Amino acid sequence: PMDNDAPSDKALRPQTLATFKGQPHISEQLSIFISAALARQENLDHVLLCGPPGLGKTTLAGIIANEMGNGIKVTSGPLLQKPGDLATLLVNLEPGDTLFIDEIHRMPMFIEEVLYSAMEDGALDIMMEDKSIRLALEPFTLVGATTRAGMLSAPLRARFGIHFTLGLYNQQDLAEVILDASRRLDVELTREGALIVAGCSRGTPRIALRN
Ligand code: ADP
Repeated sequence: PMDNDAPSDKALRPQTLATFKGQPHISEQLSIFISAALARQENLDHVLLCGPPGLGKTTLAGIIANEMGNGIKVTSGPLLQKPGDLATLLVNLEPGDTLFIDEIHRMPMFIEEVLYSAMEDGALDIMMEDKSIRLALEPFTLVGATTRAGMLSAPLRARFGIHFTLGLYNQQDLAEVILDASRRLDVELTREGALIVAGCSRGTPRIALRN
């Protein structure tokens, strides 16, 4: 698991698209994709989220699981080092789960290859006594996050149906993020105050919420 955030972090993360501020292009598109998937009673296509740290990739993964009404399992590229690490996660998925892999560009190549058939065919190929056995997986949505889109291999990138790139937040949107958080923490803050904090946060919610 992945837990390098502040303790209050979980309470601060928006749980729904409606409460996720900024990145309007992503919110609009995602809301359309999610509604369409729900209407067809299908899984959401695999989603690749690119962009600098602290802009909301992990938050969006949680929102996707929540809006789809399903669970989420979280890991990261550097944690997946043995073939069994990914296999264990995959076979334990509940139908419709979101599997979030942060820093997905940091997976070893042989793990990445296991992921290909999982993403494409919903299957896991395992070697048993020199024979390859194919296990069917529950349908799932992979959400991959990367700060280094250029380091992702072309075959992996091609297996994501939905690609979003997060950009830095403008001062207004960042002020909204700060005001929401201050309301949730019961801290009094004026709009002017929030705009000032937003102005020194390099367009990044994680920095804004630490200020
Ligand atoms: P990333 O995964 O891109 O590094 P996170 O999703 O962990 O970023 O976000 C970092 C912090 O900023 C978290 O505390 C999260 O709650 C907050 N945050 C990010 N984006 C938003 C947003 N659009 N609205 C509110 N809070 C946000």
